[in-house]
Amino acid sequence: MTQNYRITLLPGDGIGPEIMAVAVDVLKIIGQQFDLQFEFQEALIGGAAIDATGEPLPSTTLDTCRQSDAVLLAAIGGYKWDSLPSNIRPEAGLLGLRAGLGLFANLRPAQILPQLIDASTLKREVVEGVDIMVVRELTGGIYFGKPKGIFTTDTGEKRGVNTMVYTESEIERIGRVAFETARKRKGKLCSVDKANVLEVSQLWRDRITKLSQEYPDVELSHLYVDNAAMQLVRAPKQFDTIVTGNLFGDILSDAAAMLTGSIGMLPSASLGASGPGVFEPVHGSAPDIAGQDKANPLAQVLSAAMMLRYGLDQPKAADRIEQAVFQVLEQGDRTGDIMSLGKNLLGCRAMGDALIKVLEEK
Ligand code: NAD
Repeated sequence: MTQNYRITLLPGDGIGPEIMAVAVDVLKIIGQQFDLQFEFQEALIGGAAIDATGEPLPSTTLDTCRQSDAVLLAAIGGYKWDSLPSNIRPEAGLLGLRAGLGLFANLRPAQILPQLIDASTLKREVVEGVDIMVVRELTGGIYFGKPKGIFTTDTGEKRGVNTMVYTESEIERIGRVAFETARKRKGKLCSVDKANVLEVSQLWRDRITKLSQEYPDVELSHLYVDNAAMQLVRAPKQFDTIVTGNLFGDILSDAAAMLTGSIGMLPSASLGASGPGVFEPVHGSAPDIAGQDKANPLAQVLSAAMMLRYGLDQPKAADRIEQAVFQVLEQGDRTGDIMSLGKNLLGCRAMGDALIKVLEEK
């Protein structure tokens, strides 16, 4: 029976529309092959929304997203809007979207593809086979804790304050996403904290340990964040799934991503307790190459695969997209950012065509 899905497309700015066009073409053909009917609705976000409406996240966009089964986002931002006040800058649209949809879990895979191993700055033997998923808490911790601000003390000195805070329920809900994610992978979860120094981390470790009793099939370990950073570059293959708070996750997910060496290849997913998730590449709007048909669309295409796997529960369709990406790389097709000697240099559109050809071959 045909499954129907409403997908909100947010192409955004810069290379966004170019890479989104490729992902939509891929989804259309995947829809035909897996009996999935996608109803696409495009909406404005970021600079494009500011230009059209004066706001980075018009309420109509948020409403459209809320009524959909999943949101596929490209990227926002660009030089044109850099001097605007922070509450009406493109980035405010992204934060508003996350808050508006209650997205508290950010999933960032870092997988080394054998064809791109030389793009990593680390030695082949260290990174070969790396396949890590970082699950980062997105709406709590030190980025949102109160009190926050810059205050003046009685002696007239300025004092900057942020507060790292997690409640048991916040820890438990991100913990559940992490255990479920680890279950779908190799069944290993490493929780990262700073429990030797921070009380908030002691509570984190305690709750995650208690929660593990409900997931006896997942092997749980703990690391302090400084050691985790070290282990990520020393022996990254020991990791399968990592769960951590907002600040540590922000830093560790970028470090893990860079093991792969290529920002144009990295997708991500942001999920809430219910309602649609948002699926987007890790990279930004790349204004330096926008409109030149030079962008790598593969992170966007892999974000569509994550949407199928984690947002719509269609793992076979997701597998098919990931295999097609693997295959175009295998046949030597490359965009400029991942180009190496002896490979075929393609533009964004031609990379999309190569993917479609592979998908049509079946
Ligand atoms: P960026 O990720 O846009 O670009 C960094 C470098 O990587 C650039 O040289 C760019 O050309 C290259 N690059 C990025 N994606 C690529 C792709 N798919 N194919 C080929 N090359 C690619 O980061 P930046 O330059 O720091 O930021 C540019 C704008 O994007 C800013 O306005 C920033 O605020 C915004 N931004 C948005 C997001 C988002 O939408 N989630 C994330 C990061 C930055």
